[in-house]
Amino acid sequence: MSTAYLLLGSNLGNRTTILREAIDYLNATAGNVVAASALYETAAWGLEDQPAFLNQAICVQTTLLPLQLLETCQATEQRAGRERLIRWGARTLDVDILLYDDLVLNTARLILPHPRLPERRFALVPLVEIAADVMHPVLEKTVAELLAECTDTLKVTLTK
Ligand code: AMP
Repeated sequence: MSTAYLLLGSNLGNRTTILREAIDYLNATAGNVVAASALYETAAWGLEDQPAFLNQAICVQTTLLPLQLLETCQATEQRAGRERLIRWGARTLDVDILLYDDLVLNTARLILPHPRLPERRFALVPLVEIAADVMHPVLEKTVAELLAECTDTLKVTLTK
C-alpha cells in the first residue's frame, strides 16, 4: 500500500460540486481517500480573465502504481470535463500527483515529486493542512518548511 498526495483544482462550473464528485470518484477508483484539506481559493495564474481556482489537497492510500495512479487522475479529469463540456466548453478539473511515498521519478509522463510543488503556494497551503510533517524526498524538507520558504506571492484564501 502506498500513500499519495494529490492536488485537485477547478475554475469552471460548480467548483465545489466538481471537487466533491472528483473525490468520490477517486475514492472508488484510486483507493481510500483518508484525508482532505479545506477548499482554498486562488486567483487564476497567468490569464487574469479566468475565474478564480478552488484547490484542495487529498491523501489517498492506494495499491495503484504511479503511472496507474496518473491514468486514474486523468480519467477523473476527463470525466469532469466530458460532463461539463457541452455546458461550459472548457476543462473544469485538474488533478496532479504531488507526492507518492518517498518516490523520486523523472520520466516523460510523470515527474515525482511534482516539480512545481515548492514554488506553488496554492499547492503548499492545502497540503500543509494534511501533510505538514511529510518530507520532500529530494529537497529533504518538510511540507511545512517548504511553505515557510515559498516566495510565491499569489494570495491563497481559505473558503468558509
Ligand atoms: P497539466 O496540463 O498541468 O495537468 O499537465 C498534465 C501533464 O503533466 C500530463 O501530460 C502528465 O503526464 C504530466 N505530469 C508530469 N508529472 C506529473 C505529476 N506529478 N502529476 C500530474 N501530471 C504530471
